[in-house]
Amino acid sequence: MTKETAGAQPGRDFIRDIIDADIAAGRNTDVVTRFPPEPNGYLHIGHAKAICLNFGVAQEYGGRCHLRFDDTNPTKEEQEYIDSIKHDVRWLGFDWGPHLYYASDYFEQLYDWAEHLIRAGKAYVDDLPAEEMRAMRGSLTEPGRNSPYRDRSLDENLDLFRRMRDGEFPNGARVLRAKIDMAAGNINLRDPVLYRILHAEHPRTGKKWCIYPTYDFAHGQSDAIEGVTHSLCTLEFEDHRPLYDWLIENLPAPSRPRQYEFARLNLNFTVLSKRFLTELVREGRVSGWDDPRMPTLAALRRRGVPPAAIRNFVRSVGVARANSVVDVAMFEHAVRECLNKTSQRRMAVLRPLKLVIENYPIGVIEELAAVNNPEDPASGTRRIAFGRELYVEAEDFMEHPSPSFYRLSPAREVRLRYGYLVTCREVVKDAAGEVMELICTYDPATYGGNAPDGRKVRATLHWVSAVHAVPAEIRLYNPLFNAPDPGAGGDFLADLNPRSLEILTQSRVEPALAAAGQGEAVQFERQGYFCADLDSTPKRLVFNRTVGLRDSWAKARASGG
Ligand code: ATP
Ligand code: MG
Repeated sequence: MTKETAGAQPGRDFIRDIIDADIAAGRNTDVVTRFPPEPNGYLHIGHAKAICLNFGVAQEYGGRCHLRFDDTNPTKEEQEYIDSIKHDVRWLGFDWGPHLYYASDYFEQLYDWAEHLIRAGKAYVDDLPAEEMRAMRGSLTEPGRNSPYRDRSLDENLDLFRRMRDGEFPNGARVLRAKIDMAAGNINLRDPVLYRILHAEHPRTGKKWCIYPTYDFAHGQSDAIEGVTHSLCTLEFEDHRPLYDWLIENLPAPSRPRQYEFARLNLNFTVLSKRFLTELVREGRVSGWDDPRMPTLAALRRRGVPPAAIRNFVRSVGVARANSVVDVAMFEHAVRECLNKTSQRRMAVLRPLKLVIENYPIGVIEELAAVNNPEDPASGTRRIAFGRELYVEAEDFMEHPSPSFYRLSPAREVRLRYGYLVTCREVVKDAAGEVMELICTYDPATYGGNAPDGRKVRATLHWVSAVHAVPAEIRLYNPLFNAPDPGAGGDFLADLNPRSLEILTQSRVEPALAAAGQGEAVQFERQGYFCADLDSTPKRLVFNRTVGLRDSWAKARASGG
């Protein structure tokens, strides 16, 4: 795999070139696409790429995009997933209008087409046990061998297939296979399975069926029924395309869709396989599908990532035919870019250290004007209380500062944001030698943060007023995995980062944050972008860190990395 860099021409790609050519040549007038999730899990950021592509293309060409649930595997599919998928696609900013479909809508039609193939001598019922069938399929270097049931009569095939439908046989007893070519170079053409027996209740069709079409038999035919023109899927389906075409060509399909494949989105330090994500949830390694450390859309929403950031990210990655791994730092960069423009600034102290200004009058509170968002002058200012007792960030103080540490230390003067210059006079410690409090003085002539004599300080600290600040729990997230390619060593669970969640319970935030709506992004000055979590209540504020401020992606690019 190559490392992907931002597409040279975002919004232009080989898929759009193909569509342009199809329209120019008169092969298509309308553009119809579909997003076809299997409802066996929540959508993740990889799906966002497919959603943005399918819905985006339809929008650009004045066509339409269907949301179609690929619900052919009732043992793994659930209504909860259907509901979450609809919610997430809408949240991402797309609308399927009246075009909501289910592969299960077509079960009757697909069944008829299976009989059509049997009657045409192009499908047969096979009784071989699964392992034998697999063994006879051959390999990349060896051709397959014909099943002894391959030459059953047409009538016997029809009779058996109908009895399969009627529930006469147990799971796995028989399958319906296409009769193509057991020596085909492409293994997908070696008499692929079209129907299997599965006595399982389906979320939508209930007990009506006990045979279910395979993905290959359902997918292209559903496309044809819906008049899909461009069936866009990921590269792993490339080898299925000859079968896709064979089925369409051998059935009385009402339209002629074409399949095109593009590269999946892969992110380092992230797993995007639904199987793995399901395991994380089932095994309780995360709190649920929307645990903010997950790469699901539900988790990103909860974490405070705006949908526009996901769309921008997907656009900057582009659509290519070569597999690649995108740096998760590029995603975080897109999140920061978006939040920087829109989020209000607030002050919050994550790990508080008391700071007492001994020469500040007792009982006096000043209201200082603080800028809400320097990127958006219309957002105005707010008033924040300043008084004798404040909290500052514990890590902004060092008793014995290293040469590169310019923040607070004994006898050093720093600026308190929007306030005054203060100098540390005394460090109060407990019996164990732990720093408990800083005693400082302020210079009343430095209101607003500047000294009339022009003397400079090298650091500006954020702070909150001790009497006004509100306690809050703050959840800091680190990557869920500490290996760039989780699972490369065999067990992806072994690569879980034990420090992916850090919970701070002593934090203090400015009172304006008590009113922050769930999911509403704010920047905690000098700390990053945060939002109130689902668990937050007026009595107990809980904030998620969406993303920190340090942008390693922008930095790497600026230095030519
Ligand atoms: P998994 O392989 O993890 O089970 P999936 O691809 O089977 O996921 P589907 O519900 O079938 O999940 O996916 C719906 C659509 O989203 C498909 O067209 C699929 O190709 C696309 N898709 C899934 N993962 C990605 C990804 N990482 N990048 C781009 N598109 C993706
Ligand atoms: Mg799939």
